[in-house]
Amino acid sequence: MLFQKDMETRYIFITGGVASSLGKGIISASLGKLLQARGYKITIQKFDPYINVDPGTLNPYEHGECYVTADGFETDLDLGHYERFTGIETTRDNSVTTGRIYLSVIERERRGDYLGKTIQVVPHITDEIKRRILLNATKEHFDFVITEIGGTIGDIEGQPFLEAIRQLRWQLGPQRALNVHLTYVPYLAAAGELKTKPTQTSVKQLQGLGIQPEVLVLRTEHELSSDLREKVAHFCNVDVDAVIQSQDLPSIYEVPVNMQRQGLDAIILKKMGVEVGETPELGAWHDFLERRKNATRTVDIALVGKYDLQDAYKSIRESLAHAGTYNDYKVKIHFVNSEHITKDTVAEMLKGMAGIVICPGFGQRGIEGKIIAAEYTRTHDIPTFGICLGMQMMVIEFARNVLGYADANSSEMDPVTPHNVIDMMEEQKNITQMGGTMRLGAYDCELLNGSHTWKAYGEKPMVRERHRHRYEFNDKYRHEYEKNGMHCVGLNPESKLVEIVEIPELRWYIGTQFHPEYSSTVLHPHPLFMSFVKECVRDLKN
Ligand code: GLN
Repeated sequence: MLFQKDMETRYIFITGGVASSLGKGIISASLGKLLQARGYKITIQKFDPYINVDPGTLNPYEHGECYVTADGFETDLDLGHYERFTGIETTRDNSVTTGRIYLSVIERERRGDYLGKTIQVVPHITDEIKRRILLNATKEHFDFVITEIGGTIGDIEGQPFLEAIRQLRWQLGPQRALNVHLTYVPYLAAAGELKTKPTQTSVKQLQGLGIQPEVLVLRTEHELSSDLREKVAHFCNVDVDAVIQSQDLPSIYEVPVNMQRQGLDAIILKKMGVEVGETPELGAWHDFLERRKNATRTVDIALVGKYDLQDAYKSIRESLAHAGTYNDYKVKIHFVNSEHITKDTVAEMLKGMAGIVICPGFGQRGIEGKIIAAEYTRTHDIPTFGICLGMQMMVIEFARNVLGYADANSSEMDPVTPHNVIDMMEEQKNITQMGGTMRLGAYDCELLNGSHTWKAYGEKPMVRERHRHRYEFNDKYRHEYEKNGMHCVGLNPESKLVEIVEIPELRWYIGTQFHPEYSSTVLHPHPLFMSFVKECVRDLKN
């Protein structure tokens, strides 16, 4: 394996054209994976042109789930892909938005740092973008920094980012900076033809901005002929072997293998003047894919939440898929809208489910349904995994129906309830700003020896998990819960905040205040998801 330790950092920029949702994040993650497999030290970062300072304040309907880094930054969900593919933790420096760029430039302007100069998009905003692109490699050495630019070529708000990468390519030269452009080749059924014109137009548009992509990745639903690839190469000033196709595949996890087969990483290395060397094996990755393919039995698991869209609970879905594969099952996820769950509908809505996940969330909408679901699975002993708000709903349900506090609630939903079993954390009480002010990022959690959770974690005394919340189990009630069968089995070692509850009497009834889904990766599935799915499949006959 080639490993040039002190190789100068090289920068790869990934842009997209023609349409959004082509899978730039997956291509970036796959390329990262392939370079990592060659022994290079890499990092992947996302630059999003929207004006929110971070994605934390965005409704999941806008851009899907908010992913949280271990160092406590609320980021775009693509960072989840980067981590799941490479197993490398990202940080707050790996997710940057226009809002964050402007905020720092404007703060500097207010401080008077620009000494009376007129502050302009070029050069001040573009300089700040460049500074941020280079920032990670000033903190530690990376062989490759992959930068994904969010949005699509032609978006007005994306222009400063494109100008910044144009300048960087010029400053760093062809060996240290390279552009990859992802486009779409539509198939017109009526004509029976694949169409390359949108790709040509997209590349022309990039060229008009002074950027010549060296590598093109063409997303397509049908195999592209070599003639067609030659045509694209010819019209776009790109070598034929640098026109890669990204055909629809049954799983996003097959993309790295497909990219490797076509030599995406090798072409990039060659163009950047790095010796290509042997193609790495990707052994464990292939084993995962093989196992996934062979897992033909299915287990039905319900996601009880309020967002009926794929991306809202992205990391939970992926974590379940990882755990399914390693338990040799295909997890069939059924979205169950908690707004429609009532005492009358719950049995029907959860019928046939081997287990349920009660999803995280904020606000009132759909919470009563989550509470009813928690009661149903508790009283029917169906494996239940409550995450963040989901855990809080398990706690409220237990207070209402076991401890006898009919008005028990979270002070998020009912600020005046006398039985605030979930209450705002002390340090949150004086916070008025919404953005970036929750309890965020990774904290230690001490596990109770002998608990289900402790066993699920492989009998570790201490784990570290990522948080994103303002409310917390109210310690005042702890004793009452424990006396009545719901145990607090995970505690923060310093603050003693309750991080995990479980009912040891039941098969699998665990709620975590943190988000384990943020740290499940393809090669390291999360132990709690592993144990949950294992329990869900235990009695299945198929
Ligand atoms: N709304 C709850 C809180 O702020 C739960 C948050 C979540 O599920 N991420 O504590």
